[in-house]
This record gives sequence, C-alpha cells and structure tokens, in this order.
Amino acid sequence: MGKYTGPSCRLCRREGTKLYLKGNRCFTVKCPVTKRKTVPGPHFWRRSKMSKYGVQFREKQKLKRFYGLMERPFRRYFEKAEQQKGNTGENLLILLERRIDNVLYLLSFAASRKEAKQIIGHGHIMVNGRRLDIPSYLVRVGDVIKPVARKQSMDMVKTNVQSYVSRFDSQWLELDKDTPQTKVLRLPAREEVSAPIQEQLVVELCSK
Ligand code: SF4
Repeated sequence: MGKYTGPSCRLCRREGTKLYLKGNRCFTVKCPVTKRKTVPGPHFWRRSKMSKYGVQFREKQKLKRFYGLMERPFRRYFEKAEQQKGNTGENLLILLERRIDNVLYLLSFAASRKEAKQIIGHGHIMVNGRRLDIPSYLVRVGDVIKPVARKQSMDMVKTNVQSYVSRFDSQWLELDKDTPQTKVLRLPAREEVSAPIQEQLVVELCSK
C-alpha cells in the first residue's frame, strides 16, 4: 500500500487549512499555515480560480489527508457510508471519526494520528481486554480502550496524556487520566467530528 512520506506541513498548506498532522506544534505560532497563506510549489500566484470539480476534489483530498488515508481505503469507507441509513456525508465522517487511531489522538494518547498508528501497530493498546494492532478498527459503544498491562506501554501513554493537550470536544468518550482508560459512551454526532470538512462536496464527487 502506498504511503505519503513527504513533509506533513506541505499537505496542510496545499489544503489551506490545519490538518493537525504534527502534534503540539499545530497549536503554536510555528505552524506554517498560520505564518504563510500561500500554497506550496512554484508559480502559486498564477493559479486560476478553481472549477466546481476542483473544489470537490480538494475537499476529498483534505478529508483523506486529515485521517491519513489513501484512495482505496477511503473509497471503502465511502461505500460503507452509502450502504448505511441516513445522510451519506455524515455517515462517512462518523465512520472515519470512529477509527481507533483517531480516537487515540483525540484522547492525547499520541501526538498525532500517525503516531497513534505506530502505537497501535507496536501492540501497546488493548480494546476490551484484548491486544489490538489494527489502526482502522472502528470503536463501538461500550468499548474500553487502555494501554496493555506492561510498564513500557503504561508509562508511554500516561506521559502522553499528561503532556499533550487535546483541543477537541470529544464528549462521546470518557477518559480516566489516572488509569489511563477510556470508555466509548456513544457514537459521535456530526457536530463532534473533528475534521473541518464540507462533506456534501465529497459526496457529490464520489457519487459521480
Ligand atoms: Fe504543520 Fe500542524 Fe500546522 Fe499542519 S497544522 S501546517 S501539520 S504545524
């Protein structure tokens, strides 16, 4: 599977908004999106007004980059969202928000979603008492998430929870910072999704 290995901040500058890919730095004045408003690359001043397709395409790219997804897995989420009842755009955002790498990031278990993927891949996390190594796992109501009972994992997660500040409103999750253990109280509502996305544009593009 392909993977983007270039500079993270370039992705935010391309999309013209913060995608929160670099942990605490994203909340400081050092963030390049705060300092420079231009898109990366040469001749940026020559770029003309975007077409309707261009606007929709950029919104889809923004969504994929926010959650660190490549095209194929993203399409699978879209198909799943289409099969569910209700608004496809909202279903899509809620599905992505339920990914466990995103949940760990929201809870400050990791500095970024990328780091959360690594923590999960290295076997530091348990869900409902069982070790989990799949970053795409979708959390469900009642799931209990915590580090495995190993000093290294406990210490790492405790340090992260205390040093990283979460700026996201995640009232659907209940975190006990001392343990540190989290329970999924309910599924997130559309207003609680952390991605700054106009989902209708993504649906219009992906439904063509
Ligand atoms: Fe870089 Fe974070 Fe700012 Fe994005 S939000 S440009 S990743 S510092």
